[in-house]
Amino acid sequence: MEMSHRSDEFVAVAEQAEQDLRDLMAIPKNYRVLFLQGGATSQFAMLPMNLLRGKQSADYINTGIWSKKAIAEAKRYCQVNVAATTEADNFMRAPEPNEIQVSADSAYLHYTSNETIGGVEFNYIPEVDLPLVVDMSSDILSRPIDVNRFGLIYAGAQKNIGPAGLTVVIVREDLLGQTLSGTPTMYDYQVHAEGGSMHNTPPTFGWYLAGLVFKWLKKQGGVEAMAKLNDRKATKLYAAIDQSEFFANPIAKSSRSMMNVPFTLADASLEKTFLSEAEGAGLLNLQGHRSVGGMRASIYNAVPEAAVDALITFMADFEKRYG
Ligand SMILES: *Cc1c(COP(=O)(O)O)cnc(C)c1O
Repeated sequence: MEMSHRSDEFVAVAEQAEQDLRDLMAIPKNYRVLFLQGGATSQFAMLPMNLLRGKQSADYINTGIWSKKAIAEAKRYCQVNVAATTEADNFMRAPEPNEIQVSADSAYLHYTSNETIGGVEFNYIPEVDLPLVVDMSSDILSRPIDVNRFGLIYAGAQKNIGPAGLTVVIVREDLLGQTLSGTPTMYDYQVHAEGGSMHNTPPTFGWYLAGLVFKWLKKQGGVEAMAKLNDRKATKLYAAIDQSEFFANPIAKSSRSMMNVPFTLADASLEKTFLSEAEGAGLLNLQGHRSVGGMRASIYNAVPEAAVDALITFMADFEKRYG
């Protein structure tokens, strides 16, 4: 934790982590991988600052809480066109591909591949002529994706990579170097790309731990293996919810998140009892986000299948006793 980021030891750690992430995601040579700070929330501002490239507008898909935050921040820098929104359906689904209407003169199209709080995930990558930008904070490395389809991918590390404090940005080189004038140095991708993410002291410990996670993922069989495992975990949990009269998940089946499974109890007054009994059974962090309530099982890469099995068993037992 005390090691200088300029030391040979840390530089080796940093380079290995980047290489392992490149291997895992098959990141092409013409993309730069940045290890930054400030969370995904800082990216909401960095994106327009760096990617507008002289244009006046950017397109955004609105699928819920995180898209809305990205949109609100972008509006400080440019006109935002909402290329598709499922707000009229209470964000219970992702838009269909043919619902996405981009503006030809916009700088990029932004979307949130997995709405962490709502539990809505795209099961496809939008196909548009604009550079595609994605907030992958909560589903990066959960399955294989074709990086070539994107101009920029970003993710806060704390959901599916490692500890909080690190933000990974994967950006196509030709999008760099046209930053809005007045942009703070620390908000300029080009500065971080040129400095190997060491313009100032990077989050070394988070970077190191992320590297260990990348190694672990490789040992598990990479993102292909994780996708199979995540699919099994999510499928059985949704099946348990669907066949029960007591638990419910309202999201359209084709848009259900493989990572975050929100669910409600038929009798909401039992929520506290559910949570405390779950905790007693060793099942933690099942409370839904404070903005929406209910329950939420976040079944990220690090959650073993046995934990999902234990949750399903606990839920069935709870329903028997209280349902
Ligand atoms: C958690 C999350 C964020 C916010 O991340 P911070 O690191 O707290 O800024 C943004 N987008 C998505 C999809 C998230 O899940």
